[in-house]
Amino acid sequence: MRKLVAANWKMNGLKAGGVMLARDLAKRVATGKLSSELVICPPATLLIAVAEALKGSSIALGGQDCHADEKGAHTGDISAVMLKDAGCRYVILGHSERRIGHHESDADVRAKVLAARKAGLAAILCVGESEAERQAGKTLDVVSRQLADSLPPGLAGMDAANLSIAYEPVWAIGSGRTPTPAEVTEIHAGIRRALGSQLREVRILYGGSVKPQNARELMTAPEVNGALVGGASLALDDFWAIARACG
Ligand code: PEP
Repeated sequence: MRKLVAANWKMNGLKAGGVMLARDLAKRVATGKLSSELVICPPATLLIAVAEALKGSSIALGGQDCHADEKGAHTGDISAVMLKDAGCRYVILGHSERRIGHHESDADVRAKVLAARKAGLAAILCVGESEAERQAGKTLDVVSRQLADSLPPGLAGMDAANLSIAYEPVWAIGSGRTPTPAEVTEIHAGIRRALGSQLREVRILYGGSVKPQNARELMTAPEVNGALVGGASLALDDFWAIARACG
């Protein structure tokens, strides 16, 4: 299975720097040997400029969120159709920063997954437990519930072309802390079981403080099919090192 390495720039970057980072990464991909697929998810203001910078490159473009509706009176929001129109192939959905900061429920995320599918975008669906849930030994319960309730009932219409899962423990995001590779393998195996045989080819990414220093051990752990990278995706050398560690 070809690994997927996604850069989540979050709310970072202005036009000049974002375009330069995308161009420099495209140059490295063109000359370096990389078997993984890369996707850059810039803030919405940079989508068009980054799409232009990535023209001719194999690096895909992704959004960081979308609204469940196609259009309408939703000030400040952006629809899946708009992301597609801007050149996106992917969209991150259900990120914990949206679940917590914007009070998104599993039902909200499910509606967005359906909107993304309808627009022809591949969802990168984020799931993951809080620190308290981890300490209570509830990680697999939480992740299984998020999967069941954020995806369409019976996983109808979902396949490896329109879905990847990112396991992102909330306590690991931006903290410098990570689960051990063995723990990641255990949770990914649980996610794989929950997805069942119908979604055997769906990629399961790990996200949360992936850095050049820990990328190899995390990315080569069994059941890990790529990475969702936040902070380290803003530095060319760091993101490139992570991509290289994935293969
Ligand atoms: C993220 O927020 O998706 C993420 C993985 O962030 P970081 O790599 O900075 O922990």
